[in-house]
Amino acid sequence: MSPKPLRNIVIVGGGTAGWMTAAAFSKALGQAYSIRLIESDEIGIIGVGEASIPNLTEFNRALGIDEDEFLRATRGSFKMGIEFVNWGALGDRYTHGFGKVGQMADTVPFHHFWLRMAQQGKAGPLGDYSINTVAPRQARFMRARADMAGSPLGEIAHAYHFDAGLYAKFLRGYAEQRGVRRLEGKVQQVLQGAEDGFIEAVVMESGERVEGDFFIDCSGMRALLIEQTLKAGYEDWTHWLPCDRAIAVPCESVSPLLPLTRSTAHAAGWQWRIPLQHRIGNGHVYSSAFMDKDEAEAILMNKLDGKALAPPRHLSFRTGRARTFWDRNCVAVGLSSGFLEPLESTSIHLIHMAVARILSFFPHAGFDAADIAEYNALTRLEFERVRDFLILHYKLTTRDDSAFWNHCRTMAIPETLQRKIDLFASNGRIYRYDDELFAETSWLQVMIGQRLMPRGHHPFADLLPEAEVQAYVRNVEQVVAKCVGVMPTHAEFIAKHCAAD
Ligand code: FAD
Repeated sequence: MSPKPLRNIVIVGGGTAGWMTAAAFSKALGQAYSIRLIESDEIGIIGVGEASIPNLTEFNRALGIDEDEFLRATRGSFKMGIEFVNWGALGDRYTHGFGKVGQMADTVPFHHFWLRMAQQGKAGPLGDYSINTVAPRQARFMRARADMAGSPLGEIAHAYHFDAGLYAKFLRGYAEQRGVRRLEGKVQQVLQGAEDGFIEAVVMESGERVEGDFFIDCSGMRALLIEQTLKAGYEDWTHWLPCDRAIAVPCESVSPLLPLTRSTAHAAGWQWRIPLQHRIGNGHVYSSAFMDKDEAEAILMNKLDGKALAPPRHLSFRTGRARTFWDRNCVAVGLSSGFLEPLESTSIHLIHMAVARILSFFPHAGFDAADIAEYNALTRLEFERVRDFLILHYKLTTRDDSAFWNHCRTMAIPETLQRKIDLFASNGRIYRYDDELFAETSWLQVMIGQRLMPRGHHPFADLLPEAEVQAYVRNVEQVVAKCVGVMPTHAEFIAKHCAAD
């Protein structure tokens, strides 16, 4: 490994990954390094990726970005969760809301009390017990109130929907103000050292040679450096997550403006609906092994809420991950590092995590094999944890109306996921690994939403008389309903705080 201190950082690619990396590096590393970003207007960016999870609020906060300014610039809206339609069975509907479900009892999570009542048919749907699932049904939104700790109004969790192209532009302005230099043009050649294979420079179509000590591959699915040059290899997960195509199309907005992403399952995949301030983003993610593109496009175009605003765009992908994320002096960030389909809006989060992790392992004094190995191990685990959560949605279905769903329902799944399902199925237990992104309440809502009702519950929930448990559960439902009643609509909230011009 190289003991040489670094000076020059080169980011190849200017999509969401490239500009998030550039913005965070410019903030965290200051003027101590030269940071250049290369992007090609001719190639452009993938331009999808409009829904996020709450952690993005932390990324923006760390950069000192004002939330209202960000939403105005990206024509964004708020997202309290994801509504799943037709997933467990045709006609089913549930929401995976961010944040808490019920109250946290001292020793036992709320859901065990709810389970005791629900198992006897004496409780409403789980979605009635969280402000993040009840409010979106009424198109209501407000930010959590810091002065209302303990009340559901103090516990509202949110993420965003936004225009990915405008976010990249916004971050570009931020990064350039802090010294990042942008080079426009296509990289045509990558030059490696003869002895160690480290990347020494990239050569642009114009002939310009851009030398660097540390290269961040944000070139999207092309994976120009990590795969085309360093041959990292790819672990394919299509056998677990069979969707490999998407069609994206924006359409006109309709009222009400919902603070949630909707995912509607179809015969060989699912359709997303992402409401922004000025339009709705839509897409059909499907498996080409089970449906052809014309049928997939017809399904999507027939199910839009408003008039299409552009022709549909067809995209293909292969679910999986790079076998190595950091090799020698190159780290892959974004789609070059792997692809997990957008069912739970996790890709941008993985970019955020990669950038934060590179900074914590930053090779100020040169590259270190132990650091690189640890970076790779942590990133691999992160991809696998998210992968398992996504597979859960496909595996836990009762649908048998198409070959696709028969495949998903009966497929073998990773042992790590099977363990989680089995634990929950017996007594409603959910154990979260320390490093896991999705909280217990996320697993809970999806497992219950997909019709996995546990056989038992925690014995502590049986210690109280039934009438007391019922009153407790009912009280939570009423408090949530009352709090939602005082919230403004999502559209009113945006008009007041962050409407784009
Ligand atoms: P890109 O946007 O493809 O950027 C690649 C960059 O590299 C471009 O600037 C390009 O010009 C440049 N480049 C490539 N080759 C060269 C070259 N030779 N020379 C110079 N420059 C080059 N994520 C979410 O979090 N939420 C979602 O809702 C979501 N939905 C998605 C839906 C679909 C159908 C797909 C496919 C993805 C979705 N994603 C989502 C993922 C998300 O789009 C990406 O994670 C995000 O856009 C980052 O992409 P990127 O920057 O890695 O790649």
